[in-house]
Amino acid sequence: MLPEFLKNPPLGKPWLLYAFLGASLVVNLTLALRSNGGGEAEEAPVAEAAPAPGAEAAVAVAQDGGNAPLPPEAVPPLPEPLGVSARAGTHVFGSPVSGSLSATFQAADAKSPAALSAVFARLMVWDVDLRHDLHKNDLVSVLYEDTDGVEPLVLAARLTLLPGTPTERKVDAFRYQAQGDRFPSYWASDGTEVPKRLIDGPLGDYEQITSLLKDRPTHEGMDFKTPIGTEVHAPRAGKVTRVNWNHAANGNCVELQFSDGATAKFLHLNENNVTEGQTVTAGQIIAKSGNTGRSTGPHLHYQIEKGGKVVDPIDYHGTLRRKLPPELMTDFSARVAELSAQLDRQVASAAQ
Ligand SMILES: [Zn+2]
Repeated sequence: MLPEFLKNPPLGKPWLLYAFLGASLVVNLTLALRSNGGGEAEEAPVAEAAPAPGAEAAVAVAQDGGNAPLPPEAVPPLPEPLGVSARAGTHVFGSPVSGSLSATFQAADAKSPAALSAVFARLMVWDVDLRHDLHKNDLVSVLYEDTDGVEPLVLAARLTLLPGTPTERKVDAFRYQAQGDRFPSYWASDGTEVPKRLIDGPLGDYEQITSLLKDRPTHEGMDFKTPIGTEVHAPRAGKVTRVNWNHAANGNCVELQFSDGATAKFLHLNENNVTEGQTVTAGQIIAKSGNTGRSTGPHLHYQIEKGGKVVDPIDYHGTLRRKLPPELMTDFSARVAELSAQLDRQVASAAQ
């Protein structure tokens, strides 16, 4: 189900240590998301809001989920270099940090500065403690296109943490679709995927994680934006304890109990493939994802509980980071160079 390179052990940092910067993110992301005005709404635990619909709507989606390369139109075309024949709708925003991240992005000439800030934060959250690591005059830069949807399409993002500080470093993310992947993702310039993945999660592939438990503790689960009909797998062997309870809010839904007593809930499904009392094996397809119940966009809500308490799926499953295989690095590096040039040129001219 997973591309071969996904199974390779991640390199570099102790990812579990870095995984999720916890409560420190709540302030930044909650502010950004709340001021978004069109995406995630506050909700009761099972009264599910959806990831922002329409984001990245320009990207065609291959529905077969196989390993065949996507047709050319599925890959967003690279924007022309700025100043030569900049494609309409491609913009760069670069700015020193002033106040919070969302305050910094207020200066962006974007359709929704708050949404741009939220997308930027979602890319940086995996590596940067946005509340503690940010300093005045750190530099944000982002190359993006406004879309018809709630969120802009970000092509490249960079955060330069001020030289001379303990947190000094440069974190970047470039949008790129790896051969064999169903969706574009974001990758650092060394070919490490920016968003982390659950080691044995319920989806083999998905567009993006749009809600993390530690960003929104009241939400109690992780949201995976993914097209209707995406296969949902039992992450571990277990037994089906409930289906379709509280249907008005949850839509079609399945609850599994694993052998350690933990329960897993899968909400807003299009189709259930199991019935109550049935045992399932690890990896078995139990449902197809959907947009049923109280949901405003196709996604899977995945929630773990153990001993009567909500558990973060990140902690329960652990995470890994993919690396692009060596044979893709030439192609990827060319794209990084082009996107970086656009970021740098614009940021340099803005500083003059
Ligand atoms: Zn959810």
